[in-house]
Amino acid sequence: MGIDSKRIKACANCGNLDIKPPTFQEGGIPGISEVAGVYYCEKCGKKTVPIFFDSEKDYRKFLKEIKKKKQV
Ligand SMILES: [Zn+2]
Repeated sequence: MGIDSKRIKACANCGNLDIKPPTFQEGGIPGISEVAGVYYCEKCGKKTVPIFFDSEKDYRKFLKEIKKKKQV
């Protein structure tokens, strides 16, 4: 509560913010995946362990680094 709700969580693969615990069809176990911290990213189409950011600034930095990696 409090501090945690302000944190930004994003897909570790692509930085997508719209991630959610996977459904049974997506390979998740409802009630367990949430606890294990496993999320499903629709953009990647795979399961991901999200990265947490304390601020939007940190998140933007992460996005930049993803882009850099893709350009290489
Ligand atoms: Zn993703």
